[in-house]
Amino acid sequence: QQKRKEHKLNIYETLEKACLYYRQQLSQSSVALHYLREKRGLSPEIINKFSLGYTPAGFNNLQQAFPDYPTNKLLLDAGLVVVNDNNKRYDRFRERVIFPIRNIKGEIIGFGGRIIAKGEPKYLNSPETELFNKSHELYGLYEAKKEIRDLNQVFVVEGYMDVIALNQYGINNVVATMGTAATEEHIKTMFRFCDNICYSFDGDNAGKKAAWRALERSIGLVTDIKSVNFLFLPEEHDPDSYIRENGTDAFKNLANNHSTGLITFLLNQLLEEVNIATDEGKARLISLVKPYTEQIKAIALQVILKKQLATMVDLDPSVVESILNNRSRFA
Ligand code: ATP
Ligand code: MN
Ligand code: MN
Ligand code: MN
Repeated sequence: QQKRKEHKLNIYETLEKACLYYRQQLSQSSVALHYLREKRGLSPEIINKFSLGYTPAGFNNLQQAFPDYPTNKLLLDAGLVVVNDNNKRYDRFRERVIFPIRNIKGEIIGFGGRIIAKGEPKYLNSPETELFNKSHELYGLYEAKKEIRDLNQVFVVEGYMDVIALNQYGINNVVATMGTAATEEHIKTMFRFCDNICYSFDGDNAGKKAAWRALERSIGLVTDIKSVNFLFLPEEHDPDSYIRENGTDAFKNLANNHSTGLITFLLNQLLEEVNIATDEGKARLISLVKPYTEQIKAIALQVILKKQLATMVDLDPSVVESILNNRSRFA
């Protein structure tokens, strides 16, 4: 147990040392600085706030920071190096801008890297390690947690750059899931800090799908106090591009006045799967909604959902209620 704890401390130390190296490389790379400053519009303050770094092209750059590179087992355990078929080690991250990922205490647990030349994949994350589990961690939570408490709200975005760009524009209560859908654990964590989660994914199809998955994972966790809503951006935008093009006030206006509540999103989405003009479509809508009503623990929300559903299918709310409860003799 003691040994395990010590081992973890050593991994933290290794990641911290790598981070220092990456930051130092960024300060010496005009190409990477140009990318972050000019192409992505980031200020030196924001680059520092998120401890951004860079690693140049080359397969063994980390040897500069770790002279024992060929034998240092911690580099493997930290996910910083990969072993090839010939048992040779090489750096996982090469020619990438580096985003350190911190846990809630501020300790570095992994990295994300974005390619700046041509190449695939665009983003690369640390592998799962003893310290890093993507389905638990939220990028930016450490930096954002005070603001999330103060404003009683959190924005959830898809990418590192979305978190950072919103910060640059003065919106600091933002976190990102890292290439996975929001998990139940993510949602519970966020609800520990605030009462409202606003999902703000990319306007493309992947973003819409992510929003639906977020709804499915949130619906059982909302209460009449803890709420979620959805900010849908124009098709071609993500939060980063949107705020850079339209500014802080436009983003806030969207968030405050044009976001969609859980019930509305749920009904609109299911409505797309039926032809509501027909009797069969109405019946089908009720049966599609049914499993979701059962998951909602928020009493008031459940009543509101049933009332809106009743209006859509043009039936008495009490009749809809009894159908949903399987008590109707016609069900
Ligand atoms: P850009 O830097 O071009 O603005 P983006 O942040 O808009 O990129 P998306 O393609 O929208 O990138 O992806 C959002 C997030 O999903 C990324 O920040 C990253 O965390 C994750 N992601 C994207 N592509 C990959 C990938 N190939 N592997 C792992 N994670 C990825
Ligand atoms: Mn996208
Ligand atoms: Mn983007
Ligand atoms: Mn994006």
